[in-house]
Amino acid sequence: MADVFADLVGQDEAVATLRRAAASAAALLRAAAAPAARSADPYDDLDALAEEFDEAPGPAGGESDPSGGEPGAGMTHAWIFTGPPGSGRSVAARAFAAALQCVHGTGCGACPGCHTTMTGTHADVRLVVPEGLSIGVGEMRALVLRAASTPSGGRWQIVIIEDADRLTEAAGNALLKAIEEPPPRTVFLLCAPSTHPDDISVTIRSRCRVVPLRQPPAGAVAEVLVRRDGIAPDVAGWAAAAAQGHVGRARRLARDPEARQRRDAVLAVPRRLTGVGAAFDAASALIEAAEAEAAASVAEIDEAERSALQTALGAGGTGRGAAGAMRGAAGQLKDLEKRQKSRATRVQRDALDRALVDLAGFYRDALTMALRAPVAPVHTDTAALAEAGAQKWDAEGALRRLEAVLECRAAIEANVKPRIAVEAMMLALWKG
Ligand SMILES: [Zn+2]
Repeated sequence: MADVFADLVGQDEAVATLRRAAASAAALLRAAAAPAARSADPYDDLDALAEEFDEAPGPAGGESDPSGGEPGAGMTHAWIFTGPPGSGRSVAARAFAAALQCVHGTGCGACPGCHTTMTGTHADVRLVVPEGLSIGVGEMRALVLRAASTPSGGRWQIVIIEDADRLTEAAGNALLKAIEEPPPRTVFLLCAPSTHPDDISVTIRSRCRVVPLRQPPAGAVAEVLVRRDGIAPDVAGWAAAAAQGHVGRARRLARDPEARQRRDAVLAVPRRLTGVGAAFDAASALIEAAEAEAAASVAEIDEAERSALQTALGAGGTGRGAAGAMRGAAGQLKDLEKRQKSRATRVQRDALDRALVDLAGFYRDALTMALRAPVAPVHTDTAALAEAGAQKWDAEGALRRLEAVLECRAAIEANVKPRIAVEAMMLALWKG
């Protein structure tokens, strides 16, 4: 059976770091269990282990080491997994959690510790998935409290926070307190796009070791689609290339006909740009498709959250305190609506960004063809069209168009209104 790191595609460096840390953690537990070396705080032994493992300061250690002087320490109590969307941040965090709970200390993939962690049923592993809404302070306090208890399995208490960039400020402070004074057997695993202060507060980051993940190569993504998901090799190869290193996106393209249709519509844009009017039409179509996709994906969950909150607030209660409770309820509903609105915006931007990444892939293909560069196209199914573009525009024209798409992404990231940015891009793509 494959071990717990098998699905972490194309991340050899990060996997090596995590394996070392798991071995170091297992050694800590053994040392704590041996009567002669019993220590109240297993991290007391970190310095000794640091020398033992003598890890070269790499991107996962070095200046990001929270102990501030022992970059070699294999194990620490707080980690941040960063990387582009789809690179496998949460896969990495879960695999590492399994390796820590593994009875062999390796992440064998077969023992009860590995198995229950990977299936999400381990009593000492808690997973927080905010689903687009920010993680509130109440939830975080309860989590921190439970995480401080002694691990029932005798190894580690682990808290995985997916999308740690969506912590509210108050929740971040509650988490920071726990990370600053960690219970002896508690490990925090945070996932975030980057360690930019917009994503993770500087103080939390300074207490964590960072494990950067890279965009996995298409070949590695295709391999995992075939092995894990049973997708036919030719479909897997096409989807992995088209998804440009995003594992989840590759799987969706391979399996979901609607995702394929949306991509087809985006890739039809270049040949439709025949004039100013067509450019504005294409901009509208792109924006509206992103809005529709986002609306469909959040509608159901919005309604479920709303009715769950109404039930929790006991709508229609009477008696002492009911009036005050109703005032509080109105505030909470308003708060929920506000958070749902910000999620809708985020989902919409994610959908639009996926479209722009697909479009950038097309112009990148045209550019590499114009340059006769010996690289495989991103979109094998529009390769002929990209070749025609390469003939017509030359490398320079293809590059200008690629830059127009990338500038559009950057503008939206910098809060330019999406419609304005997309219209400017379509005009630039048409004019060249
Ligand atoms: Zn195991």
